[in-house]
Amino acid sequence: MTVVGIVPAGGSGERLGADRPKAFVVCAGRPLVEWSVDALSAVCSRVIVAAPPSFPLPGSVEGGATRSASVRNALDAAPEATVVVIHDAARPLVTSGLARECLDALEGVQGVIAATPVSDTIHRIRSGDLIRDTPDRAALWAAQTPQVFNADALRQALQAGSTATDEAALVVAAGGRVRVIEGPSDNIKVTTPTDLRLAEALLRDRC
Ligand code: C5P
Repeated sequence: MTVVGIVPAGGSGERLGADRPKAFVVCAGRPLVEWSVDALSAVCSRVIVAAPPSFPLPGSVEGGATRSASVRNALDAAPEATVVVIHDAARPLVTSGLARECLDALEGVQGVIAATPVSDTIHRIRSGDLIRDTPDRAALWAAQTPQVFNADALRQALQAGSTATDEAALVVAAGGRVRVIEGPSDNIKVTTPTDLRLAEALLRDRC
């Protein structure tokens, strides 16, 4: 089994309002992307970052216009991969232990992702601000990363040029079975300045 890590870091991070792409914003002393690369390096033979064209890293590939395109570019650069571990540059609190847990659960399915059961009630909205309906909360999980896949299943799911906000959605749409395991609540995604402050505090608590 050859496990390759992919870190999509090609987003601009407009909602963070920083002077550089989100993955390169400093959090607890280092660029966000470095926390993810470090955690994945412990369980992968190599880690490929999909970086914005203006912020290349050693061994990185160019990010695409969408997250799916960024992952596709990285996967194309890893023909040797039989298993892929994808982790957002925007989630610096990941641990190699969590990536390992996902890998260990890959038996008999095409993918395994970290996720958390939602604690808020989620409404679907129509016409901009009117509630259309309210899915049963008991069936809703919020996706995190790491997301681990059989590499051929992921290649097939990405082949059609389809896009989604995570890779699990693509693999399931292509007929694959994807398992969720409960990820820690501190595995947050940095989107807003408040998230960045929280991630910084949590990372400093760990050190
Ligand atoms: O936009 P969002 O916060 O969901 O992005 C999740 C991850 O996907 C981030 O690490 C971001 O850098 C990455 N991404 C990417 N290429 C894009 C858009 C997002 O690699 N075109």
